[in-house]
Amino acid sequence: MKHYSIAVIPGDGIGPEVMSEGLKVLKVIEEIHGGVRFNKDSFEWNCDYYLKHGKMMPDNALGILKDYDSILLGAIGAESVPDHISVWELILPIRRAFQQYINLRPIKLLRGIEGPLRNKTNNIDFVVIRENTEGEYTNIGGRLHQNTPYELAVQNNVFTRYGIERVINYAYSLAEKRRKKRLTVATKSNGIYHTMPYWDEIAKEVGQKYPKIKTDYCHIDALSAYFVTKPEYFDVVVGSNLFGDILTDLGAAIVGGLGIAPSGNINPEKNFPSMFEPIHGSAPDIAGKGISNPIALIWSIGLMMEHLNFKNIADLIVKSIEEVLVARTVLTPDLGGNASTVEVGDQIIEEMIKLSVKSF
Ligand code: ATP
Repeated sequence: MKHYSIAVIPGDGIGPEVMSEGLKVLKVIEEIHGGVRFNKDSFEWNCDYYLKHGKMMPDNALGILKDYDSILLGAIGAESVPDHISVWELILPIRRAFQQYINLRPIKLLRGIEGPLRNKTNNIDFVVIRENTEGEYTNIGGRLHQNTPYELAVQNNVFTRYGIERVINYAYSLAEKRRKKRLTVATKSNGIYHTMPYWDEIAKEVGQKYPKIKTDYCHIDALSAYFVTKPEYFDVVVGSNLFGDILTDLGAAIVGGLGIAPSGNINPEKNFPSMFEPIHGSAPDIAGKGISNPIALIWSIGLMMEHLNFKNIADLIVKSIEEVLVARTVLTPDLGGNASTVEVGDQIIEEMIKLSVKSF
């Protein structure tokens, strides 16, 4: 029997709703597999916690989390707390302290989903790897001459050899395992003078170790257009923190929207826990109505299972989600249905049980 400790952070808005479906899925995995147990601890660190304590999580939070095998996050963000606080005091410290330098986001058109792109009804199946610890998202910089007509703001980008090498290496090794054996490097070396040529230069150096992989370099503006006009071309796409962030929301949009899209913040060496979360935020417009789509969170659990070396369970989760999508009888309103969060969660679980009889 293998035991895994999971730190659960339901968070804000729809986070707790989708998380409770995720917890049901973890329980079913235990029942189906028989050889795996999850020791789950839930942490109520969110914007309400901030309003009470003046911080998003306790001072020793990272010390507490570091001993878990994985972290499962619902969503963070509320109108009562500015985004730069909720993100910079909870999500970013976790990603950085635990060297989760890979942000992995599958962009896959699942069976049963009719994406918004006409004539692209299948064949969209790629992964975006976003650098997750440096790049454009730093707090280095500042403001000068505040409250004068000469006021100015400087924001520094940070690109290190170490940081670029490790993310490009990861992207190449993922491309080696995939069908098309192709890596697309997102860049903007024709506009950003220092950092992007440096990013390209190091990517080229690293690429020499992977002669079997076809590599192309694509400027971020053109690349965004290609995500719409020829998404079937891509296999693995790697981008800096900002570029990866923007590309993956676009990626989510072409395969059915935020309600489905999962992500993993991964420390490939497994020296620290990795964190799995839906791409979507707290969705305050629908929070509390019981209609949020739990698929993104449940698919994120699939990514977690793959990271914990249970590829068969990851596949079972994705197949079960697809069965529900194909049947079209139990879907939340974002996918054109009128089912509740709980009903979709239950339906996925029913499929998992049905399919597992065949797989295990
Ligand atoms: P935040 O500030 O926390 O990121 P947001 O409103 O800016 O919140 P999202 O939470 O990602 O961004 O929501 C964007 C839109 O997508 C909203 O209209 C929301 O209702 C919808 N949405 C996001 N997640 C889901 C979901 N799981 N199910 C249904 N709709 C969703």
